[in-house]
Amino acid sequence: MEENRLIMSGYRPEDDEAERSLRPRTLEEYVGQTEVKESLRIYLQAALKRHDPLDHILLYGPPGLGKTTLAGIIAAEMGQNIRITSGPAIERAGDLASILTNLNAGDVLFIDEIHRLSHTVEEVLYSAMEDYALDIMIGKGPSARSIRVDLPKFTLVGATTRAGLLTAPLRDRFGILFRLQLYSPQELTQIVRNSARILGVPADEEGLGEIARRSRGTPRIANRLLRRVRDFAQVKKEGRITLEAARDGLDMQHIDSLGLDNVDRAVLLAMMEKFGGGPVGLDTLAATTGEDATTIEDVYEPYLLQLGFLMRTPRGRVVTDAAYRHMKLTPPVRSRLDEQTRMQLD
Ligand code: ADP
Repeated sequence: MEENRLIMSGYRPEDDEAERSLRPRTLEEYVGQTEVKESLRIYLQAALKRHDPLDHILLYGPPGLGKTTLAGIIAAEMGQNIRITSGPAIERAGDLASILTNLNAGDVLFIDEIHRLSHTVEEVLYSAMEDYALDIMIGKGPSARSIRVDLPKFTLVGATTRAGLLTAPLRDRFGILFRLQLYSPQELTQIVRNSARILGVPADEEGLGEIARRSRGTPRIANRLLRRVRDFAQVKKEGRITLEAARDGLDMQHIDSLGLDNVDRAVLLAMMEKFGGGPVGLDTLAATTGEDATTIEDVYEPYLLQLGFLMRTPRGRVVTDAAYRHMKLTPPVRSRLDEQTRMQLD
């Protein structure tokens, strides 16, 4: 099921080729995330003036929001190279040592899913980040000794879905923390407009707007839906992405007017029908829907929260009246006490 979901914001192999050509290369081309870009411009200018590498940066936010893209832009704006790797790919401390000793001064090292580094690997990273040095143990037993190897000054850009997944010592070693936000339909329209131009697909503004509205605030999904609608339009609508082509193409994929798919609807329905709208604990919700708790928290929830369909309360997740209306169901009559708690939480 998971594999076939069009709206999954995680990376899929088919995205590889397409994403490379659609990926913005400068801060200017990077749409949205205004606050992040403003701060970043200042840090970049200051670092360039001092001829120093940029401080280590932690980027966090749901998958597909542009963390890898931004890391590439940071390297390009500094006029440096980027090395890309990920937490699970670095299995042993030696793997990290070899990556680090092969860096050139000023390089950007991007570690995706940095929260998945093992404890021993993470410890090697501490001195590398703090002192640009590696402490390596030579020999075994009583004759073992530690030697310190100097590293070139580099910038680590780490990416994770939630900052809270990192251990405190690792998080503290980042000088700059940026949280990426879900994109507005206007920003996503601009992204798919640019992508349609690059792909050479004729498109109406209304068609692009429709794709944007159904992309759950996520550029990776927007570009993926654009490609699906392009295919649909080529076969059924003489190649032009019109409002009708976007609507029909996406309806056919069971992606509704707000970008929810069968699994989103199943999650909402389970909460409504089995738990009277909540509160439901995350683990119960995971068990009921057969989805992983982390996936619910990182992939589905951010968008459902942004839509105002879900609320987090100290007692669990609650679906809102707006969600009932979207699902064409009647909201339950809630007690006064419930209303008061809800108002306080709003
Ligand atoms: P993440 O690393 O957060 O999972 P990526 O950086 O791989 O996300 O972004 C996925 C794709 O979405 C990119 O290839 C790019 O085409 C597009 N994208 C992401 N952010 C932006 C943006 N701000 N402006 C334009 N396109 C973007």
